[in-house]
Amino acid sequence: MRDFRYGEAARCHECGMRAILPTEDIADTFVARSGDRLEKVGCPAGNGWHVIYRRVENASLS
Ligand SMILES: [Zn+2]
Repeated sequence: MRDFRYGEAARCHECGMRAILPTEDIADTFVARSGDRLEKVGCPAGNGWHVIYRRVENASLS
């Protein structure tokens, strides 16, 4: 696949400056590399794809 550098990705103003992944394939690659700690989400503003950390259960209830 085409080399894609997350740190150099364009930023999405609609999504809190998340990196924009241009294709779902690239998003899938990041999810796979993260060991499924990331999940892909389609940009609600239609700018491509983002990856976000999966929501974790509240680790501390103290
Ligand atoms: Zn977005």
